Amino acid sequence: MEIDGNVLAAKSLVRFGVRHMFGVVGIPVTSLANRAVALGVRFIAFHNEQSAGYAASAYGYLTARPGVFLTVSGPGCVHGLAGVSNASVNTWPTVMISGSCDQADVGRGDFQELNQIEATKPFAKLSVRASDISEIPARVAQVLDWAQSGRPGGCYLDLPTDVLHQKLSESEAEKLLTEAEKNRAKPEPYSISNSKIEEAVSLLRRAERPLIVFGKGAAYARAEHALTKLVEATGIPFLPTPMGKGLLPDTHALAATAARSLAIGKCDVALVVGARLNWLLHFGEPPKWSKDVKFILVDVSEEEIELRKPHLGLVGDAKHVIEVLSKEIKDDPFCLGSTHPWVQAISNKAKENVAKMEVQLGKDVVPFNFLTPMRIIRDAIADLGSPAPVVVSEGANTMDVGRSVLVQTEPRTRLDAGTWGTMGVGLGYCIAAAVASPDRLVVAVEGDSGFGFSAMEVETLVRYQLPVVVIVFNNGGVYGGDRRRPEEVDGPFKDDPAPTDFVPNAGYHALIEAFGGKGYLVATPDELKFALSESFSARKPAVINVVIDPYAGSESGRMQHKN
Ligand code: ADP
Repeated sequence: MEIDGNVLAAKSLVRFGVRHMFGVVGIPVTSLANRAVALGVRFIAFHNEQSAGYAASAYGYLTARPGVFLTVSGPGCVHGLAGVSNASVNTWPTVMISGSCDQADVGRGDFQELNQIEATKPFAKLSVRASDISEIPARVAQVLDWAQSGRPGGCYLDLPTDVLHQKLSESEAEKLLTEAEKNRAKPEPYSISNSKIEEAVSLLRRAERPLIVFGKGAAYARAEHALTKLVEATGIPFLPTPMGKGLLPDTHALAATAARSLAIGKCDVALVVGARLNWLLHFGEPPKWSKDVKFILVDVSEEEIELRKPHLGLVGDAKHVIEVLSKEIKDDPFCLGSTHPWVQAISNKAKENVAKMEVQLGKDVVPFNFLTPMRIIRDAIADLGSPAPVVVSEGANTMDVGRSVLVQTEPRTRLDAGTWGTMGVGLGYCIAAAVASPDRLVVAVEGDSGFGFSAMEVETLVRYQLPVVVIVFNNGGVYGGDRRRPEEVDGPFKDDPAPTDFVPNAGYHALIEAFGGKGYLVATPDELKFALSESFSARKPAVINVVIDPYAGSESGRMQHKN
């Protein structure tokens, strides 16, 4: 019996552990998707490769196994670049597989022709082609291994049409699969010098105002138990980045989230675990940070540590490094205790800020501002208990306000625009979360502009009956109503809608109803409470269209200075 390249690619994926795929089928990869499904892979078919790519990247983050997505050649591959690049920037293991044109027709203007290896190279850790059917198993293994080795990221595999149609015998295929499996890369254990560990512990021990900061690299490494042990043994306050939230509960007594400015502005030693000192952490520089702060960076990437030039760098897996640090501390323990002036200062400031915020949140403002519906959503999520839902969030004001109001109590339950500030990730991330964490509800809290990037994927939610509730903060545009200064309103098209405008009062809820999902239009606290209660218990695809005052919130969320 002979099999073709489609079957061999599907067999390779299954043999090397792929259980889910995302993508858009068409020439020349439809048979590859069908073959994979026949071999037990769950294939989630999207409307656009961009969303499929975002889904694969979030799946990689949530499961710590490469998220795989499939595209057609040329334009399909171009749309998919969004997913690979987002994966690489966020350091999430992801593999894009695209069909490409017949190798004999390269350069002759073939159907959907593109040099996909060159196109993907700037965005991928590795871009490779199987130029012959016999190369398929080894190439599939290679991209999967590269995507998750060292610093994870996006990889690309090119499968030309002629290769997908070549044939070989089943016994030959079996031989190739076994060989590729045997040659798979084994993760190398990290070794950190004892002296560096001792220095890190000594810095933390001598610090007057220590802080532990952790990010989505620590979440990816599943470092939650190790970090909890370290925080609780030493009594050092902690600050999660937006997607680090939930590794320790936001409600923990040592959480410095509500005292962020004080914590980063005054700490003298910061242990930063799986988080880059990039824009999200103000580059680790004054005036947000003290100029004398000593950073101890823990990162799987040596390159990252070299870039930031911290006081001390520990290269390795976050969970492992934190465990080794805790072991070292155990021999001569220290703990700040709740009466330590630094701990008290953080705790007092956090309580003060929370109390101020609660006063604002406690008001029922109608027409809705951002805070009132966010509080109602926060309380409805809290009522769900454990397992907590995965919260997906994007949009300027919606994401900013959501980050401070929504409470994260479990690890890897927040997905947002991430390192690149990528808008349009919403529905892709929702679908990935529903597939990767089937025991959890998924709740998306989206601005209307963020939702619009991938809104057609609500059909995908309905088709697969995924337990996803999408809440759209509808303020009629990007940042809300027309906010142009008088001097900006001029020219022959001055009567057109502003570049930030959408159709006012858009019926986003009706979009999902078109496919048989449940839609809600809400404008008051009671209407929102009812919609949340009904949709959360139904665990079926729903869109809640929340009407927000178009002049609530601010332009560019909290980044006005950049616009
Ligand atoms: P955040 O957005 O939460 O601040 P970043 O994406 O900036 O986080 O940083 C995550 C960092 O985590 C990256 O520099 C990446 O190299 C690193 N990382 C990824 N996997 C691991 C791991 N297993 N252990 C430690 N660091 C990791």
